[in-house]
Amino acid sequence: NFRPPFQSETATLLVAVRCRPLNAKEKLRFRDILRVVDDKIVVVLDPDIAKEYLDKVQGRSKEKQYAFDLAFDYTNSNEVVYQRTVGTLVPNVVKGFTSTIFAYGATGSGKTHTMVGTQDDPGLMVLSLRDIFNRIQMETEIDFEVTCSYLEVYNEVIYDLLERSSGHLELREDPEQGITIAGLKKIQVNSADRILELLEEGNSRRKTESTDANATSSRSHAVLEIVVKRKEKNNYNAPVLKGKLSLVDLAGSERASETNNAGQKLRDGANINRSLLALANCINALGKQGKKGLSYVPYRNSKLTRLLKDGLSGNSRTAMIATVSSSSDQYQHTTNTLKYADRAK
Ligand code: ADP
Ligand code: MG
Repeated sequence: NFRPPFQSETATLLVAVRCRPLNAKEKLRFRDILRVVDDKIVVVLDPDIAKEYLDKVQGRSKEKQYAFDLAFDYTNSNEVVYQRTVGTLVPNVVKGFTSTIFAYGATGSGKTHTMVGTQDDPGLMVLSLRDIFNRIQMETEIDFEVTCSYLEVYNEVIYDLLERSSGHLELREDPEQGITIAGLKKIQVNSADRILELLEEGNSRRKTESTDANATSSRSHAVLEIVVKRKEKNNYNAPVLKGKLSLVDLAGSERASETNNAGQKLRDGANINRSLLALANCINALGKQGKKGLSYVPYRNSKLTRLLKDGLSGNSRTAMIATVSSSSDQYQHTTNTLKYADRAK
């Protein structure tokens, strides 16, 4: 059994970094500037250094190094990333605990690849559900109910990604149920089979900017919430326990100032920064909490952090996968992400 690689017994935050490979086009023009050492250290090579030299360094000399709980290079599949991150949290979700995992990184660094994936290489959302159903089948004395919802936070407004034309949804704080979203569609699922289809359908509804260089959903945060309810069979008085796993494909972390846009889009950028900034602050506070006991976590500052509050506090465990591109043209974004993730741990 793989023990979660948290830094200590009290730590609630796991920080992992995943490096994506150069694609065929990038290989023609750029270099691979990242090396992963010992599954924990990412070495960033200066993109201007001669290529022959790059092949020799392998983590020595004065290149920048960053250490994390876990580091994955391009040889690691989604399956491997799953096993070592969310896979360590899922057993507790089936037992009634709450966990949150999110992918943080610049647009094009591999967040959606990691979270959603493809038919051939399903991502953490799909693998989590598969794992949950495998575990449920082993617990024959327990009745389970599994429900999923999939939403996006765009411009500080919540939309349902499982509804064809969803309006704005309101977030409510109920003293008994905690955070709820009025009118959000919840689908009961009995296997992981159809989830990839639903996610892809949902992703096609994510707000995109057609003028964007690569018209992807780089400005919206997508949140899949899996709720697992369990109750002892044939025991009328048994309590219902509720476990929850939230998997978040965050908006691109590139700075709003770098998106050379105006008007509506600039406002988008500012709001995304608000949610990302608020999340970053919560993550920093959680990281400190692991080391020094309780500290104040500023959840209230954005829709995203209010939404994720349950999953970031109390008995919850949180994992962050910072995604970075190994391509030398992404040096600045990669460095920014690694510095952020370094502060979080
Ligand atoms: P993001 O969601 O962060 O904007 P994507 O997940 O869409 O980025 O990834 C950008 C491109 O890189 C996609 O074509 C994706 O298939 C590819 N890619 C990302 N991560 C990997 C990886 N680990 N291995 C292979 N290809 C990857
Ligand atoms: Mg994406």
